[in-house]
Amino acid sequence: MHHKSKNEPHPYHRREVCLATMHGKELAISAPFQETLGIFVRVPKGIDTDVLGTFSGEVEREGTPLEVLRKKIRLGMSKLGLSQGIGSEGSFGPYVHFPLIAQGHEILLWIDDERGIEVVEQKITTETNYGFKTVSAWEELGDFLKVSGFPSHALIVRPNSGFIPGLIFKGLRKEKQIKEAIERSASASNDSQAQVITDMRAHMNPTRMKVIGELAEKLARRIATLCPNCLCPGWGLVDIVRGLPCELCGLKTEQIAYEVYGCPSCNEKNTLPRQDGILKANPASCGFCNP
Ligand SMILES: [Zn+2]
Ligand SMILES: [Zn+2]
Repeated sequence: MHHKSKNEPHPYHRREVCLATMHGKELAISAPFQETLGIFVRVPKGIDTDVLGTFSGEVEREGTPLEVLRKKIRLGMSKLGLSQGIGSEGSFGPYVHFPLIAQGHEILLWIDDERGIEVVEQKITTETNYGFKTVSAWEELGDFLKVSGFPSHALIVRPNSGFIPGLIFKGLRKEKQIKEAIERSASASNDSQAQVITDMRAHMNPTRMKVIGELAEKLARRIATLCPNCLCPGWGLVDIVRGLPCELCGLKTEQIAYEVYGCPSCNEKNTLPRQDGILKANPASCGFCNP
């Protein structure tokens, strides 16, 4: 049996990995993977990830964000002929618990065909500028400009009544561009209105780029962690167990009591008390003390 010592370099050390992006995500993803794992991130040239769907909706995404992401990564891996690939996918909409606030869901996926594994990290966050406004002139945008982070964050303008080929203006960071785009879009729209939307593409959206960077650090750390049983990279949180006891009455609550760590390759699992050290639940979350 082959035994790897702890002093051996990480299995991905000095490996090349593919990142399929048209939107400059290497700015957020390369550094954590290079620094934590010694991995070289390569971006394939001339790849069109927009064929798999766009934020602005000209191309509808087929399948779940994870399925779209998998296709995107595989597109790049086959283009570069690499057996490891990484990619990110975001989706945005109203916050589930409070629809006036926007929410972003970012997924970062690692695929390794050599080991037949996938490792995923996700983040659901209200740290996003996602939003849109229907207007007939620049003057009506008002607060929306500030809230959407313009001009460091770009905007998209299109006719309000739907898609008209050639009438979608993306990556707008100048007042003049937006004024013109609103005018052209509104005059082409059945209701004489234009829709102004936040541009969610990473290179147009520093807030999103920052979230992707944080997620990349998390994923790199996870991939750096080897399974204690089979030494496969990617050991990390795979499940949670609810039932943290109430501080007052001791009954089980819906709060998280244990975290389950697992391997992407073998069945090894390890259940540990939650890592923040909290042992009892606040009675406010107890169905008995606070029904
Ligand atoms: Zn209680
Ligand atoms: Zn394992």
